[in-house]
Amino acid sequence: MSQRDALARHLLAQHERAATLEAELTALPALDPENGGEGEAEKAAFIEGLLAACKIEDVRRVDSPDARVACGFRPNIVARVPGESPRTLWIFGHMDVVPAGDPAAWSSDPWRVRREGDLIHGRGVEDNQQAVTGMLLLAEALGATGITPRQSLGLVFMADEECGSRHGLAHVLDAEPKWFNAEDWYLVPDAGSPTGDAVEMAEKGQLWLKVLTEGKQCHASTPEEGVNAFLAGADAAVALHDGLATAFPEHDALFRPPVSTFEPTRHEANVDAINILPGRDVFFLDCRLLPAVAAEAVLARAREIAAEVAARRGVRIEVEVEHAQAPSLTRPDLPDDAPLFPALADAVEAVYHVRPKPVGIGGATVAALLRARGLPAVVWSRIFNTCHQPDERASLAHICGDAAVFGRLLMAHAVKPGSRAAHA
Ligand SMILES: [Zn+2]
Repeated sequence: MSQRDALARHLLAQHERAATLEAELTALPALDPENGGEGEAEKAAFIEGLLAACKIEDVRRVDSPDARVACGFRPNIVARVPGESPRTLWIFGHMDVVPAGDPAAWSSDPWRVRREGDLIHGRGVEDNQQAVTGMLLLAEALGATGITPRQSLGLVFMADEECGSRHGLAHVLDAEPKWFNAEDWYLVPDAGSPTGDAVEMAEKGQLWLKVLTEGKQCHASTPEEGVNAFLAGADAAVALHDGLATAFPEHDALFRPPVSTFEPTRHEANVDAINILPGRDVFFLDCRLLPAVAAEAVLARAREIAAEVAARRGVRIEVEVEHAQAPSLTRPDLPDDAPLFPALADAVEAVYHVRPKPVGIGGATVAALLRARGLPAVVWSRIFNTCHQPDERASLAHICGDAAVFGRLLMAHAVKPGSRAAHA
């Protein structure tokens, strides 16, 4: 048996160890200070202890100062194992989790793993402890088997992913830019599909607009004495939703869904009483834009549509940018731009017997931070997508299977640029 197959077979048999690690990690809730927590320090100390037990010599901390937590910092851990090749396979997992939400919505204590056969339930077991556990299994397997990997390995355990990554990956990349090279492989196992058939290689741009409508407040029984800002705002919501979709009909089959989207979402509270006609209305529009659609053009068209509604309704409407993020793309059609894709597709097929396809999503992951620095990241895992939900769950078979995919990548023969035709 080849070393690659031996490593994969070893990892596929780690169901009990995966269950133990998940239970220990879940019992250390790493909540961000925005969510009333003390950050990741306890969980990071536990992970460092495990890495030390695997005899990994190169383990470094890249802490980000944060006065909001008692210890004063947010930990990031970078563990490296040298391989035969200087190329590094980087795998990223985040240690922080979101709060449990309404405990009554859970079938059991969210912070104590409940096991039912192959399934485990608990806050964080999928997002992102499936990745963290797989990374730890890989580290332990290298120690247990004594295999020298073909690629070098870099495991990055991150803070702050759920609240923007400022103290997490963004901090690590700013503090240690020389560690990360464009020739390396970057895998973020933090999104995926239940069969493992989707490799996320692109994210739409985000444009969040605030729409403020000003009319004139009055008694609701005499509407002719005022101007109903809620009514005009509702008109604007429909006009923007429909009008922007018509103005930007571009189609890109890489993405799910394959079009840009323009959704009215949050609406601010207005008047306290039913019999008051509101004079002010604020709502937000969440736009997710294909790479071919320019945010400036969308903003300009949104302001034109708002002006038409304002004239029709006799109100003033302002459209402001609340948040914008450029699209990020690791182009699947260019092998030099996506060196990991063919090797990942081979590894996934070997473990799960499906050939994954590249996809684009409307959501955002830390892969965007890597891509923004010219590092060609892909996002893949085999997950149920129960993240942030009550009764969040994960499959022990998939945790071990994902770890086996990591192991196969670590032992893969390098794919030379331009040779992707061989894998088509
Ligand atoms: Zn996540």
